[in-house]
Amino acid sequence: MASKLRIHDLIPESIVDGPGLRYVVFTQGCPHHCKGCHNPQTHPFDGGREISIEEICRDYQVNPLLAGITFSGGEPFCQCQPLWELGQRIHDMGGTVITYTGFLYEDLEEKALTDPDVKGLLSVTDLLVDGPYIEELRSLDLPFRGSSNQRLIPLSGRIPPDLLS
Ligand code: SF4
Repeated sequence: MASKLRIHDLIPESIVDGPGLRYVVFTQGCPHHCKGCHNPQTHPFDGGREISIEEICRDYQVNPLLAGITFSGGEPFCQCQPLWELGQRIHDMGGTVITYTGFLYEDLEEKALTDPDVKGLLSVTDLLVDGPYIEELRSLDLPFRGSSNQRLIPLSGRIPPDLLS
């Protein structure tokens, strides 16, 4: 497996990127170019910087209060292999994994039939937040989402549904 990831930024503590206190990885590179995107600096695939999975795990381990990790963007599904590996490591440490994506879950499921890395990242994702950001559907009332088309899709039972509302 790959052991390096291209990131825009790391946030060691967040309470707005999923339930509980979470470590957030903003990946670098996004093909979606949603109108009104709040993180346009994450779009270029040659921007940001590279970091090893090992380094992120060391940083994550420093804080015993973390509930888990959130992969945000950028587009995490453009770097499935290292995030799959990182997600496995976070699970081994008892944390949960939330993955944001501009793709639709149904399309990712179809890709997973022929792409083992997509399948791998889905397999370590406990909660998927899917769909592009649509400026016309922007809402400040929705927990953990920017626009009302985006869905919170539990892929395991590890994040209780009552924490998502
Ligand atoms: S998927 Fe996310 S990072 Fe990419 S353009 Fe849309 S809102 Fe921005």
